[in-house]
Amino acid sequence: MAARIISGTEIAAQIREELKKETAELKEKSGVVPGLVTILVGKNPASVSYVTAKQKAAHELGFYSIQDDQPDDISEESLLQLVYRYNNDSKIHGILVQLPIPKHIDEKKILNAIDPDKDVDCFHPINVGRLMIGGDEARFLPCTPAGIQELIVRAGFETSGAEVVVVGRSNIVGKPIANIMLQKGRGANSTVTVVHTGTKDLESHCKRADILIVAAGVPHLVKPEWIKPGACVIDVGVNRVGEKISEKTGKPVPILKGDVDFDAAKEIAGAITPVPGGVGPMTITMLMKNTVKSAKISAGIK
Ligand code: NAP
Repeated sequence: MAARIISGTEIAAQIREELKKETAELKEKSGVVPGLVTILVGKNPASVSYVTAKQKAAHELGFYSIQDDQPDDISEESLLQLVYRYNNDSKIHGILVQLPIPKHIDEKKILNAIDPDKDVDCFHPINVGRLMIGGDEARFLPCTPAGIQELIVRAGFETSGAEVVVVGRSNIVGKPIANIMLQKGRGANSTVTVVHTGTKDLESHCKRADILIVAAGVPHLVKPEWIKPGACVIDVGVNRVGEKISEKTGKPVPILKGDVDFDAAKEIAGAITPVPGGVGPMTITMLMKNTVKSAKISAGIK
């Protein structure tokens, strides 16, 4: 039987409706409006489109939002001062510096300067540590991994006791999602294996997975015969494999492929995310969720 398609687009829309209500209630009860600033250095086209999408989402949810554009020759010191200014701005609950930033600036220094209580991207070492400890310690969850967990839970998969195999060990996807899934609690409590380029037999690990999360950045790395029948497959990979002309706009658009051969895998898996339209739409939504949480905490609401 063909797999159920887990639509990130639909689930993200559901969560955004919930966040819109939460935002309105928060405003009514406490007068606090979630505030998000996105800082963009330079005019990298991909970064411009990511920041625009984040601002659009913030606007639609009723946030107070600022897009702060800075020239690509801004000094490290000036960028640090800008971050400190937003750290001290009580109307701002979330600060996001769009990466990458120009090479003459130490990225780590900038990310570490963000107040951990406003670090809605969850890149600050304090928040990474809190995530590792888990439970109430974790103020924010990093956006893409948090989106992956939501997809699994909302698709109705039992995570407790499940064999979860994560392909990839990056700091933004592989390691944090492995950490999230092994925590004791709802939507987690799994037995987690992380595989990478040093792993001897990738196939045998993948075949054991009740929930297979693939974040390698290699088109069609996971073969359909590696998938356990009925498994939940979350394909995080976004790989540009060429260009085509869009029927809508007549302009060239990238052809995207995931890390899993979707067409073949959907005949074996129990449920699977498509690329695009799977994990992608969840990432910005979870950024909005973190910003609402930060605003609630600042208003003394848990
Ligand atoms: P990354 O930093 O390049 O990490 C890739 C990981 O996969 C590394 O740990 C690497 O192992 C492992 N890997 C690569 N090739 C492998 C192979 N042949 N066998 C086993 N392991 C392999 O990438 P990332 O930032 O985590 O992103 C991964 C993918 O997810 C990319 O396609 C990216 O575009 C996509 N992504 C999507 C979203 C979204 O919102 N949809 C967000 C973030 C990332 P080693 O550590 O041994 O090198």
